[in-house]
Order: sequence, then structure tokens, then C-alpha cells
Amino acid sequence: METTPSTIATLINVSKIYGQKDTQVTALDNVSIHFNEGEFTAIMGPSGSGKSTLLHVLAGLDNATSGHVTIKGTTITGLEDKPLTHFRRDHIGFIFQAFNLIPTLDARANIELPLRLAGRRADQNWLNQVIDALNLRERLNHKPSQLSGGQQQRLAVARALVTRPALLVADEPTGNLDTAASKEVLNLLRQAVDKLGQTVIMVTHDPRAAETADRVLIVKDGKITHDLKHPTAQEIGQVA
Ligand code: ADP
Ligand code: MG
Repeated sequence: METTPSTIATLINVSKIYGQKDTQVTALDNVSIHFNEGEFTAIMGPSGSGKSTLLHVLAGLDNATSGHVTIKGTTITGLEDKPLTHFRRDHIGFIFQAFNLIPTLDARANIELPLRLAGRRADQNWLNQVIDALNLRERLNHKPSQLSGGQQQRLAVARALVTRPALLVADEPTGNLDTAASKEVLNLLRQAVDKLGQTVIMVTHDPRAAETADRVLIVKDGKITHDLKHPTAQEIGQVA
């Protein structure tokens, strides 16, 4: 029996304007959209179209100029810094293209850092599953500088998954990876959605990566121009 998916994130009339007067850039132009719980969404579009801005505003990393963002029933637009930081820590996981790993901590400590910051204990079972799925077992005692680019990226993915965040946002998570490592990362994100009911929103410029998603949004000039369900890479190529 099909159940109606519940909404996990909503943007209503969200705009983001950078700069002043004649140097103004409208990075997001009055965007309204819903995201369902347990769905994997890919965001595509030309460079400079507003993909990263959409992701950042959605996840409370950047303030909207106007409009409302609601996540899990909490309207995060208008929250003060501290409650916003706590909200992000408790509900949102991030994967960036620049890995933002802590150079002085080894791989295991980097993975466990979000749990430590939240004062939470690791679910050993899940931790082991993540470590093995990302093939990091042999590298747990290595510092980031002793890891390859691909290994650092996998470490960043592990760190984002370890808290099992309600919402996982990723900005070009496979951008620096070779084909094999990209596949691994996408499979893991896919599994997080299918097996754990996590919600993933991922920016990518790779139609093959987007094909892994349940839904693909195309962004142009700060607007969502297409909203596609289970498109093939070919269908994506035709509109993107
Ligand atoms: P994308 O991720 O699709 O490449 P972005 O969301 O990074 O696009 O940027 C959208 C637009 O907003 C671009 O014109 C970009 O130059 C501008 N922009 C992004 N961040 C800033 C910023 N911090 N200050 C000024 N302009 C910005
Ligand atoms: Mg970007």
C-alpha cells in the first residue's frame, strides 16, 4: 500500500539577493518548493544559476533575503544564530566539495566529530556500516593529509552520515572523485534513502549522478524551471 510521503522541507517565496544597488545579484528568485521525507533529490543547472545558494538557504547556512524556509515543522528563517546552529547540528548533515576536514584529527575522530559536538554516543553498528561501505576501515588512523582526494571525500561523506541526519545536503559530493569512488558515494546516499528513510538533497552537474535520484530539479537564473520524477540521464540532458 502506498503511503502519502510527508513534507520535510518547504521553501515559500524565497529570494536571495547579494550585493547592493548596481552590483545586486538575484541568486534565488521567489522560489517555492516542497521536499518529501525519504526522497533523494538532485539539483542541476548551469554554473552561477543559484544551486549552491538554494542548498545553503534551505539548510540554514545562509539567510534568505525574503521568504520562509521550514524544516521538520520549524521555520528556520528568522531564528537567531544560536538556535539555528543547534537546529542544524541536530537535524542536518552536510557534504561539501571542499571537505572541511580537521587536519589534526585522524579519520576516525573526524567521522565521530559531529557526534561529539552534539554530545551523542555513536551507534557502533551504524558507524561500522558507514566505515565499511565507504571503504575507510584501513585508513581510520590516518590524518586527512595522509589520504588521497577520493579518500578525503569519502571521509566527508561518512562524517555527514554518522549522525543519521533527517536531512542530508550535499554540494557536488562527487565533483572530485573518479568514476569508481563516485559510484560508491552515490550508492551510499541511495542506501541511506532506501534503507534508513533519510532525505538527501544533492547539487550535481553530472546527469549520471542525478539519475540516481528520485527527483531532479533544474535551476536557471535563480528559478526552478523543471521538476522531474525519476528522469533518465538522457531526459535530464534534454532539459539541462
Ligand atoms: P551555482 O552553485 O549554481 O554555481 P551560486 O548559488 O553559487 O551558483 O551563485 C548564484 C549567483 O549568486 C551567482 O551569480 C554568484 O556569482 C552569486 N553569488 C553567490 N554567492 C555570492 C556571494 N557570497 N556574494 C555575492 N554574490 C554571490
Ligand atoms: Mg555551486
